[in-house]
Amino acid sequence: MLQDGEMGTPAACLFDLDGVLLDTEPLQALAWQEAAIHFGCALDASQLLSLRGRRRPDCAEQVCHWIRTATGSSPGFGALLAVRQPLADRLLVAAPPMPGAEALVQRCLERGIPMALATSSARAAVERKAAPHPWLDLITVRVYGDDPELRGGKPSPEPFLLAAARLRAAPADCWAFEDSQAGLQAAVTAGCRVFALVPDLAAGAALTVPEGVTVLRSLKEVAL
Ligand SMILES: [Mg+2]
Repeated sequence: MLQDGEMGTPAACLFDLDGVLLDTEPLQALAWQEAAIHFGCALDASQLLSLRGRRRPDCAEQVCHWIRTATGSSPGFGALLAVRQPLADRLLVAAPPMPGAEALVQRCLERGIPMALATSSARAAVERKAAPHPWLDLITVRVYGDDPELRGGKPSPEPFLLAAARLRAAPADCWAFEDSQAGLQAAVTAGCRVFALVPDLAAGAALTVPEGVTVLRSLKEVAL
């Protein structure tokens, strides 16, 4: 457990959603895998990991490229998503919270620490995934992947810069919680103090944790 003195207190906490507050990443990966297999291409573990943290259109473009490389023809963006989306919708409503996530959000609220969501997921997808988790309603300030004010998705720093701006906090005074390569790059470039949540050592081995980022095995280690 990190001690309070070591960590200090942030002006605000900026949370990624998938893989940080909700354990959706294995389900997201399964939906991409099943969709790719539908078009004749099985993805490997490193390909699936590289999709983490990125917006759905960016992932779809990447997966179409892999399918074209493997099979000689691409299903096209729309056809791929038409196969993938029903799978994802069915799987993701069952995503459990990450250990310690609900308690950390509650503690931020009790301590008056402002919170924002900085997610690559589109608003409609977040609403579906969050429906079984009323504690997520405590985070009212949100930047979605399809946010009209967003100029670029992770790994661009824009989602974190926009989230901090909406809380009227300086990014350098914010703590950002991330789990993916794209998300870590985004949060570090935004200038936040960054915590990398790496509960899974196998997945973590493929992650390059940028300098200055604190690695957590669980959100239970956050002393707030
Ligand atoms: Mg994530």
